[in-house]
Amino acid sequence: MASQTRSPLPSPDSFASRILAGEADALDRPTLARYLAGEGDLWELMAAADRLRRDRFGDEVHLCSIVNAKRGGCPEDCGFCAQSRRYSTGIEADSFLAPEEITAASAKAGSQGSSALGLVTATRGLKDGSKALAHIVEGVRAVREAGHTEAHASVGFVSREALAELKEAGLTELNHNLESSREFFPEIVQSHTYDERLQTIRDAKELGLRTCVGGIFGMGETPEDRASLATELRELDVDEVPLNFLVDVEGTPLAGREPLSPRDMLRVIAAFRLALPRQNIFLAAGRHHLGQLLPLMFSAGASGMMIGDFLTTPNRTVDDDLEMLEMLGLRGHACGTPRPELKVTPSSTSPRPHRLPVVA
Ligand code: SF4
Repeated sequence: MASQTRSPLPSPDSFASRILAGEADALDRPTLARYLAGEGDLWELMAAADRLRRDRFGDEVHLCSIVNAKRGGCPEDCGFCAQSRRYSTGIEADSFLAPEEITAASAKAGSQGSSALGLVTATRGLKDGSKALAHIVEGVRAVREAGHTEAHASVGFVSREALAELKEAGLTELNHNLESSREFFPEIVQSHTYDERLQTIRDAKELGLRTCVGGIFGMGETPEDRASLATELRELDVDEVPLNFLVDVEGTPLAGREPLSPRDMLRVIAAFRLALPRQNIFLAAGRHHLGQLLPLMFSAGASGMMIGDFLTTPNRTVDDDLEMLEMLGLRGHACGTPRPELKVTPSSTSPRPHRLPVVA
């Protein structure tokens, strides 16, 4: 039987050059999938991704934090989640945090260098006119009035009217992750659809909110699924992309999955940077799986990280993270700070036109 010959793999650096010349979507999906499948040299991939990161973000790193404003008891069935009431994970449902508790979390996050606090609720969503929505509107307003950080939210499905109410209260950015590809999504979530998620994201964009949309890796998805997610995010033109790596939780359907290797994690980060050169790509849950390679996340193209407590999984101490940044010569920057257009310099070695404000 004749063996199939594959076309030569284009070099990642050739895409970096095209992107820096203004062709932001130069990386095609088939090549992206091949990079994600492990083809090509990881260091070459990272060097190209780092070229893009440095050109756009320089030595600045976006830092953000989250608070669990309503913990546990979620009716949805996301197979990775410790907060679904369908699984026995030992997480008890709690009531909403009071505005003073949310303000205190914002003050703490701000003092640690985070420019934004995300209010997260373990809910399917917030219904119009509900007490749940009123709680979060109050929390968002409290964060805005206290002035320590921006107020972001991750609250599930919300109508356009509810989003407008949240925006009016001071919300600047909505997080709503797609988790994985459209094709793989039904393998991990059956209680709602990919399209429902997309609708909320589109509504937020239309209302002028910034959007933070990412996924989880290591759930059993293929490299094609990862490439599909990256291209979906590119088409949506989201602003921030959180990359999470599965932390398997006892009692959930995904318990017992082996985490991705640190090298595979770096490959995901670098490939996403090449696919999404404009976006702030930051690492959130599961970044500890990088182990001793953690600082290399920036060389692989990450431009931010979530610091402080995660929802239900472990994170390093803030002091350790800030010390790492200092040792690397990196600095925190404000969320949503206007950035130069992509084509600001012909190469990473040219001087950048201006410096951005520093938060930490
Ligand atoms: S909707 Fe959110 S909180 Fe609820 S199960 Fe899914 S990931 Fe967990």
